[in-house]
Amino acid sequence: MSKVLDSFLHENLEDLKKKGLYNVIDPIQGANGPVIKINGKELINLSSNNYLGLATDERLKEVAKEAIDTYGVGAGAVRTINGTLDLHLKLEEKLAEFKHTEAAISYQSGFNCNMAAISAVMDKNDAILSDELNHASIIDGCRLSKAKIIRVNHSDMDDLRKKAKEATESGLYNKVMVITDGVFSMDGDIAKLPEIVQIAEEFDLITYVDDAHGSGVLGKGAGTVKHFGLSDKVDFQIGTLSKAIGVVGGYVAGKKELIDWLKVRSRPFLFSTAVTPADVTAATKAIEILMNSTELHDKLWDNANYFKQQLKERGFDIGHSETPITPVIVGEEVKTQEFSKRLIEEGVYAKSIVFPTVPQGTGRVRNMPTAAHTKEMLDQAVAIYEKVGKEMNII
Ligand SMILES: *Cc1c(COP(=O)(O)O)cnc(C)c1O
Repeated sequence: MSKVLDSFLHENLEDLKKKGLYNVIDPIQGANGPVIKINGKELINLSSNNYLGLATDERLKEVAKEAIDTYGVGAGAVRTINGTLDLHLKLEEKLAEFKHTEAAISYQSGFNCNMAAISAVMDKNDAILSDELNHASIIDGCRLSKAKIIRVNHSDMDDLRKKAKEATESGLYNKVMVITDGVFSMDGDIAKLPEIVQIAEEFDLITYVDDAHGSGVLGKGAGTVKHFGLSDKVDFQIGTLSKAIGVVGGYVAGKKELIDWLKVRSRPFLFSTAVTPADVTAATKAIEILMNSTELHDKLWDNANYFKQQLKERGFDIGHSETPITPVIVGEEVKTQEFSKRLIEEGVYAKSIVFPTVPQGTGRVRNMPTAAHTKEMLDQAVAIYEKVGKEMNII
C-alpha cells in the first residue's frame, strides 16, 4: 500500500475511534423485520426505514419470485440501451398515478435520483437555495450540478424569501431552484411546503422536494406534497422505493416534458444498469397496495403515536417530530453511543446518530416504529428504555 494512503487511513481511523465517532456495523442474521437477530440475539428493531413492514410482506415476496421465474435476475443493460423491461414502464405509470403527476421515471436508488435529476437541469449559470439540513444526496447532487449553492437556514421562510429575492434580482443566474427534504429524517419535522411554494411562485423558482421519508407516511401514503394538496405545484417530486415501499430504487415524478428530459439527460439513467425485475415488480405491488388501502399507513401512525406518548410520559426528550420518526435526544456523543449500546444489550435495537450526521452536542437515538410492530413489542421496548434511561440518568 502507498505509504501516504497507509498513514492517512490509520491516523483518521484512530482519530474517529478516539472521539467515539467510528460506526461499527452489525450484520442482521435474517430479515429486517420488527424483530431482528444480531450476534444470535433477538432484538426489537427500531432502526429501519421499513415504515410499513413491506420489506418482508408476503405479497411482495410472491410477485418478486414470479418475476424472477419469468424475467430472470438482472435487467441486462442500462435503461436507454435495452434494459427497459415492460415492468419498468408499468412501475413508472403506477408511480405517476400514486403521485398525481403526468409522468414518472425510476432510478436505482433515491440517492441516484439526486445525482441524476439536479444536474440534468441545473448548471454553473444557475443557483440552488438549499435547506441546511437537506440529505447528503441532495447536497452531493447540488455540487455535481456546479450551480451556486445558497444555504438557507433550516425551515426559515424569512431567510428563504430574502435569499430568493437576492438571487433572482442579482441577474447573476439563469435559473434558481429551491430544494428541500419533504420530511427531515433526523428530527422528523415536515418542510413548510405551502410557504415554499408561495415564495417559489413569487420569484419563479423551480421547486424540488425529496420526499424519501414522506412517501407511504404522509398524505394518506401519497407523501408530503399530497399532504399539503400541492401535487400540481411542485416541479420535481423525488421519492425512494427503499424506505416505506420496502424494496430498493427511487423515482422522480412530474410533468411529462420534465420526465422526457430526464430520460435523455440524466446520467445514472443512461450509464448505470436498470433495477432488477424482482425489485421493480415488488415495488409496483407495494404502490398498488398503498393506493388501494390505508391499513398499513393507519397502523404505522397508531404505533408511532402510542410509542411517542409512552416515551414522553417517562420523561424522555423526544424533540418536535411531526412524523413517526422518534428521536430520543441525549446530547453528548459518547453518552449517546453508550445509551444505544445498553439498549441493544437489553434487547432494543435503536441506533445512535451523532455528529457529523447531526450537529455536535445533539446526539440522539433514533426510533422508527413501524406498522409491523405489535403493541407488546412497543411496550417491551418502552420498559427497556425506562430501565436504561434511569440507570444512565437520562430521565
Ligand atoms: C434515504 C434518503 C435518500 C436515499 O434513498 P435510497 O433509496 O436509500 O438511496 C435520498 N434522499 C433522502 C431525503 C433520504 O432520506
